[in-house]
Amino acid sequence: MRPALPPVATTPFVAGRFQPAAGEAEAIVDPATNEVIANVAGASAAQAEQAIVAARQAFDAGDWPRMPVFERGQILRRIADAITARTEHFALLESINGGKPISGARREVAGAARVFTYYAGAMDKFFGDTIPVAENLLNFTLREPLGVVAQITPWNFPLLAAAWKLAPALAAGCSCVLKPSPLTPLSTLLLAEVIEACGVPPGVVNILPGGAEIGQLLAEHPAIDGISFTGSTTVGTAVMRAAAGTIKSVALELGGKNACIVFADADIEKAAKSALGAAFGNAGQSCSARSRLLVQRSAVPAFTEALVAQIKTLKAGSPLDDKTTLGPLISASHWERVDQNVRRAEHDGARLVAGGHRPSDLPDGNFYEPTIFADVTPDLALYSDEVFGPVCSITPFDTEQQAIGMANASAYGLNGSVWSRDIGQALRVAKAVRTGMIAINGLPSASSTSVFAPFGGYKRSGVGRELGMSALAFYTETKTVTVDLS
Ligand code: NAD
Repeated sequence: MRPALPPVATTPFVAGRFQPAAGEAEAIVDPATNEVIANVAGASAAQAEQAIVAARQAFDAGDWPRMPVFERGQILRRIADAITARTEHFALLESINGGKPISGARREVAGAARVFTYYAGAMDKFFGDTIPVAENLLNFTLREPLGVVAQITPWNFPLLAAAWKLAPALAAGCSCVLKPSPLTPLSTLLLAEVIEACGVPPGVVNILPGGAEIGQLLAEHPAIDGISFTGSTTVGTAVMRAAAGTIKSVALELGGKNACIVFADADIEKAAKSALGAAFGNAGQSCSARSRLLVQRSAVPAFTEALVAQIKTLKAGSPLDDKTTLGPLISASHWERVDQNVRRAEHDGARLVAGGHRPSDLPDGNFYEPTIFADVTPDLALYSDEVFGPVCSITPFDTEQQAIGMANASAYGLNGSVWSRDIGQALRVAKAVRTGMIAINGLPSASSTSVFAPFGGYKRSGVGRELGMSALAFYTETKTVTVDLS
């Protein structure tokens, strides 16, 4: 029997307090069973306005942006420790609400704590420059907090996405109004409780459960200085447009259709094993999923055989079972979308070599078999469209130039992999692929548990970079000060 849903607030968090329910209620569903597990009150428009006013006051007149960076860092460190202390609480919420296998959910909680630890010690290492201009002039730059920032997160990594945005923004001295996905708000509401208990002043962090209207309100609002959005390219376009009216700073982490390029000289077994996580991790519901497997023609049979053998090691089932490695898709409607993509690929002539259906032993919930298509040509919809499910395609290539061209034949440019024992070849390809991140002979450094390297995309995969020192660049403005010494 499943453990009861751990306690968590279910109303908006504004000005340091959970507010009475005022907006539309959202039924929160367990995707493994499609049972309702909670009802969360979305923020009303008035509560969103209150949150923005509170954030504005906290920024314009409050202690947070004026506090010595070391003291802000100490509070961030406390948040990291408090997240770690509540690992099981957070992991259960992520697992029950997001369908994440519990072992992976625990790793994501550790990843979220690490982001706060990293930024606790980062802001005092991020400073301006002294610029030689003329003998009688002293010219230097200051890094100042961007101001009040809106942050909008998706459902696939709710806690991590919130941590990636809140930790650097808080380190920089900003105030935040964060809207989680209406499908998965629970872990973010628990994070609000933790942040408040660790001594972040009221108004500095506000959490507004809700849907598109609240997101739109934030993106348009004149009292907000910047917006960081993670989600689909379609909604990212709407956010950018809405933010344009008030010239907000905009950071966008959007979709991907990432290529994994496997040369015939690569360690094929290792590449296939890695592709398992890279294509099917989080049930393929990852912007970084390597769903286009480009394989040098002579290696296609061996690679396909190895990958098909590998997917048999995946264990679909209850996300709360420690042995489960493949959870359900987030919702019944998303299951339908994924299935439509699969049926269309079949209709278009792709050859189904594994999966393609609901697992026969899991009739409830939104489970989908890990699915592999072969003979997928670049003109097929499956080659270009982000499916966001456990579905990947194998496409043969002959030459290095062809592989580069095929990888780049995408509107997206988020992540990728190259496998070759010829390091010159691997590096040439890594440099030529138009993507924000690429891994050579292994999994990427900027995975969900790494915080040191910039994370983000080229082309329609986004604007700007999260994590590392790059996030601090987004959450700060640069002021140039010139002193006349004469
Ligand atoms: P989505 O774009 O549907 O929603 C994302 C967020 O935007 C949600 O909180 C949603 O309520 C909100 N929203 C919806 N309409 C809005 C509007 N008009 N104005 C403002 N906000 C609005 O995405 P999703 O389905 O939650 O997540 C899946 C998508 O996110 C995939 O495309 C995936 O690739 C992408 N993603 C990207 C990254 C990355 O780092 N690049 C990470 C995770 C997910």
